[in-house]
Parts: sequence; C-alpha cells; structure tokens
Amino acid sequence: MRLRALLLLTALLTVIPGMGAEETVSAFMADGFDPPLGLVGPKQYYRARGFRPNGHLGEDWNGVGGGDTDLGDPVYNIAHGLVVFARNYKLGWGNVVIIRHAYLENGQTQFVDSLYGHLNEILVQEGQQAAKGVKIGTIGNNRGMYDAHLHFEMRKNIRVGMFRSSFPRDYSIYWDPSEFIAAHRTLAGAGTTAALPINTFPASAPPVVGAPMQQAEAPLVKPSAVPVLRRGGSFKIDRYDDLR
Ligand SMILES: [Zn+2]
Repeated sequence: MRLRALLLLTALLTVIPGMGAEETVSAFMADGFDPPLGLVGPKQYYRARGFRPNGHLGEDWNGVGGGDTDLGDPVYNIAHGLVVFARNYKLGWGNVVIIRHAYLENGQTQFVDSLYGHLNEILVQEGQQAAKGVKIGTIGNNRGMYDAHLHFEMRKNIRVGMFRSSFPRDYSIYWDPSEFIAAHRTLAGAGTTAALPINTFPASAPPVVGAPMQQAEAPLVKPSAVPVLRRGGSFKIDRYDDLR
C-alpha cells in the first residue's frame, strides 16, 4: 500500500504545476551562444529593431539589401538545446520555433528559451534535440505581412511560450538577445548533459498582465544608420558593435 501511495504522490507531483516536480529530458549543455544569422555565407544582416522593455520584446534582423532580399535565408540554432515549439501560430507570428537551452552560469545550471519568428519554413520538429549551428528554418515575411526578417527573442522565463501578454514585458522575463549572446559566446560544460524541463508552457492563456500586446509589427526601418553584422569566419564579438 505504501508503494502505491508513493506512486500516486509521484504522479500528482508530476502533473500539478507549481509543485516543484517537473518533467525533464536529458539534453546537451550549451557550450556557447552564437547569433542566429550570418555565420556562414556572403549575406550580411543588420539589427533593424532592438529589444525594448514594454515595447519590442525581441530583435528584428534583416538583410542589408532590405525588402525581401533575405527571404528564404537560413536561420541557425544559437546553441545546443531542445525544440520545445515548432508550429505555425498564425496571427502576427506565422511560423515560430522555440528552442530551450541549458547552460552554466557561475557553476549553476540555468535555462533560456530562444524564439525565432515569422519563419518561411520550419525545418525542425518539437521534441528534437538541436545542435548549435543547425539550420532550423528560413527567414520569412509571414505571408507578406512584413518585409522578410527574423524576429528573435530570448526568454529567461521558460513558461511564456506564445502567451507573452500574461507575463511582464521586461528584464524579469526577457534577455536583451544581443547582450546575452555577447556575454555567453563560450561556456563551460561542453559535452555534458542537463535535465531540461519540458511542458512548461501554459495550455491556454493565463490572465493578461497589463494591456494586450499588439500582434502586428510596424514596418521595418531602412538599413542606413544601423550597424551591419558582417561576415566573419570566427565571428569575433569585438568586430561587431551591434553585439555589444
Ligand atoms: Zn520583431
């Protein structure tokens, strides 16, 4: 009887959110984070719009040619991780991929979600382990809603999923993507694994925090007067002001 009670308790702890017990899968630790575009090939990209708390919660990366000149260009996974979302969410999002990464910070295991929006194609599946640098999709324009670009977010809170409106829109939930990447290019933990939490997203929308987030994005600014992410074999940070 005691064993049965223990099993029941274990099952309850597994399914009740907030009880501390979570489903996990074993996944490789990130050994460093790279930008999602422009690591290989001749194309150049610039950050058309940056991260702004309570405003734009990610970065828009665009080809320097403007317009749809970057439509179909490859988008790369920024670090080893697990694909936790890969669907067409429609609305202002279109095709979205979210990858969850475990990494070491001061000896502690931390988690972060990277989000890639408006993709023309999705080339990974939910539940798939994805190595750093793997092509996970291509730059899209959400069926003509925008000039083709990559909307890219990094979330320190791994419970947001597609319900941004239910969470604060600030640094308590998000990282500035370029700042995070610049500070985490090379990390300890290569070749080791971590227990990565899964099924952390709400199944339906939790209560909204503050005003609802707008779905559509404004037109992109032209590439003039913004830093260009130039091609570089090793992609050294100190060569790219936009990654500071
Ligand atoms: Zn955006």
